[in-house]
Amino acid sequence: MKQKKHWYDFLWIVTPIYLGLGFFNIMFAWLGMIFFSVPLVIAIFGGGKLYCNRYCDRGQFLSLLGTKLKLSRNRPTPRWMVSPIFRYGFLIFFFAMFFQMLFTTYLVGAGAQSLKEFVTLFWTFRLPWHWAYHGTALPTWMAQFAFGFYSLMLTSTLIGILVMLIFKPRSWCVFCPMGTMTQLISKIKVGKMKKNETQARYSCECSCNKTP
Ligand code: SF4
Repeated sequence: MKQKKHWYDFLWIVTPIYLGLGFFNIMFAWLGMIFFSVPLVIAIFGGGKLYCNRYCDRGQFLSLLGTKLKLSRNRPTPRWMVSPIFRYGFLIFFFAMFFQMLFTTYLVGAGAQSLKEFVTLFWTFRLPWHWAYHGTALPTWMAQFAFGFYSLMLTSTLIGILVMLIFKPRSWCVFCPMGTMTQLISKIKVGKMKKNETQARYSCECSCNKTP
């Protein structure tokens, strides 16, 4: 029997729209902050991996390309890619690059550097992108942040597509920084709940929270 489709099954469309909008106007890159904050908010408020399982546009986009359009070679995801060393290492690297981007934004805001109207792919290759900046009434640091953030989003999408082509469609999800973070938050929350349960079970009857 065919499964009923929900509105959130079509969220994959958000990925090409987001990247397309940033091609014409870089300030749309700010919308990416939604993809950054929503998964964390859901995980913090006890939703666990709900964002990954249901609402993530990129996860759906990779599934669509790899599974429905059969672009994936579907080879098993390598074990090193699944290892905690690689996953947490990539998370640290990703955040180091994120903070470097924030520092550049700060320098532009402070007037120590001029606005860099290019997109950096794979943290290395500079692509001219000046047509996407039309000047705004907003401060230049906001444009610099947009260029930096769009670089991160485009780079991570391309990495996702590359690993999708070679390995399983959603191999990116194995080491995606957002996935790693939401998993960490869920683990911490489960750990806290277990601790509370144990404390409650062993606390003395007057609820003074002392173990008997
Ligand atoms: S792991 Fe990342 S890309 Fe995959 S579903 Fe979760 S947030 Fe989306």
